Amino acid sequence: MENKIKSGLFGVAIGDALGVPVEFKTRDYLRSNPVQDMMGFMCWHQPPGTFSDDSSLAFCTAESLCKGFDIEDMAITFVKWMEEGYWGAHHKVFDIGGTTRHSLARVLKGEPARTSGNFFEEDNGNGSLMRILPLVFHLHKEKDVEVIYQKVKEVSSITHAHFRSGFACFIYVIYCLEILNEVDKIEAYKNMQKIVSDFLSAKKFNPVEIQLFDRILKNNIAEYPEENIHSSGYVLDSLQASLWCFLNWNTYEGTVLKAVNLGGDTDTTAAITGGLAGVYYGMDNIPEKWIATLARKNDIDDLCERLSLKVK
Ligand SMILES: [Mg+2]
Repeated sequence: MENKIKSGLFGVAIGDALGVPVEFKTRDYLRSNPVQDMMGFMCWHQPPGTFSDDSSLAFCTAESLCKGFDIEDMAITFVKWMEEGYWGAHHKVFDIGGTTRHSLARVLKGEPARTSGNFFEEDNGNGSLMRILPLVFHLHKEKDVEVIYQKVKEVSSITHAHFRSGFACFIYVIYCLEILNEVDKIEAYKNMQKIVSDFLSAKKFNPVEIQLFDRILKNNIAEYPEENIHSSGYVLDSLQASLWCFLNWNTYEGTVLKAVNLGGDTDTTAAITGGLAGVYYGMDNIPEKWIATLARKNDIDDLCERLSLKVK
């Protein structure tokens, strides 16, 4: 498990760091100027290997899970990042999403984590999906899908409490759990579809919301042409784009570079994609030069070791 935790978390942070310099660049621009290696500066004026809010909040999630599952502690850990740059690449915060900022401001004022999140339809950015991966390791022995759903929902809801965000995280977690079992990624995708569909058949969720996930759950997202795959900051776009990249490319490097070069919310699309690809392909498939450039790699190593001892 320690190897998977490590390749998953490094996978998130390296994807994130590859995307940071070109955040907001369009797909057209990146078609002519593709990212092929770790770069620095440009968009956020950060040195190469700098990860952003996506990875910092994923590390905060992992840090909190090292003590056990407690969303109040997790929310306070997120606030520590927002206020003090805890788990910042250079101990600072240079970017934060609106929904996350509003929700964590409530936590800071004393609101409990179970009611701190924004819950309107417009609060469905990718801000909880980008930090959910560590929960997979906490849940790796959990067989009850209902328990998995509730825990994923609670963790998402600290900031992103709308159904759609929680459900997107749930699909991602179920898929990662299948990949952890080392089944083939296409088999794992089919397993995920079956597990989620079986779960849904016993639920009375709003069918309008569930239909939004038809591309992923009823069809094969990998088969859509690139022009139908969007890479904005909207949670549904990010989930589709990450699955699409992961299913269509066969190395860690190719998968995350494709995610970055889709443009738009480059760092987050690549962080979410990089988590899947990291877990699946393992540390040996992540280019060594990228690991060497990554900020705080020794701290990340230490965090992975502590989390693996807790969840083994
Ligand atoms: Mg970011």
